[in-house]
Amino acid sequence: MLEAKNLSVRYGKHLALNDVSIKVEPGECVVILGANGAGKSTLLRGLTSMVPLAGNGDVMFREKPIARIAPQKIVELGIAHVPEGRGVFTEMTVDENLRLGANPKRARAGADSRREEVLKLFPRLAERSRQRVGTMSGGEQQMVAVARALMSKPDLLLLDEPSLGLAPIVVGELFQALKRVRDTGMSMLVVEQNVRASLAIANRGYLLEAGRIVGQGAAEVLMDDPGVRKAFLGH
Ligand code: ATP
Repeated sequence: MLEAKNLSVRYGKHLALNDVSIKVEPGECVVILGANGAGKSTLLRGLTSMVPLAGNGDVMFREKPIARIAPQKIVELGIAHVPEGRGVFTEMTVDENLRLGANPKRARAGADSRREEVLKLFPRLAERSRQRVGTMSGGEQQMVAVARALMSKPDLLLLDEPSLGLAPIVVGELFQALKRVRDTGMSMLVVEQNVRASLAIANRGYLLEAGRIVGQGAAEVLMDDPGVRKAFLGH
């Protein structure tokens, strides 16, 4: 589905992403684990051309090169990116946000039936479709962000730290919803600091440290890995 090879990103002199290669197979949920500042957001931004790539890195999506293609075109090709901080329109209702999500050309036909399907994955939003998003809890706003991204009819969903700033119980609810999304067969790439919640829904994971991939493996293996436990779980 997605294959990124040798991606590097510089902010001035700082090499935030250093020769990173990752893959997401169709229907796979892959998590990138990393601490604050490891380069997780930069990796997603590099994949969707929101920051320029340094060097000769390459990104293939469904066997076509997409590196350096404009972000709007990338949405049309079928990649939806939910940025850190969600990017929802807080002055608008849930429904208005979802309708805006169906704006890409690829998503216009069938938007109403898609909305019904998306709301089945997020029953909590179905009850609140006329609520203004700014009045919702952090977890609900994150659900709106994911639901809106799904309205663009993606083949690959990129999620930037969905658990950020959420209380543990809310993280649990959100990841239950993300599991339902995964179970539809959606290919997902999630960057996270929350090891337990994200590995629980992932097939595979990569460890990102100071802009480099320093480890990778099946989710169950990473969960029991002493290095991962020490770095992220404190034991
Ligand atoms: P966090 O969870 O804190 O967002 P992250 O793993 O997503 O961390 P990035 O946001 O990708 O990390 O940042 C990686 C490094 O690049 C950090 O050292 C950060 O300070 C730096 N950085 C990020 N964005 C910029 C920018 N626009 N200009 C300069 N440096 C930046």
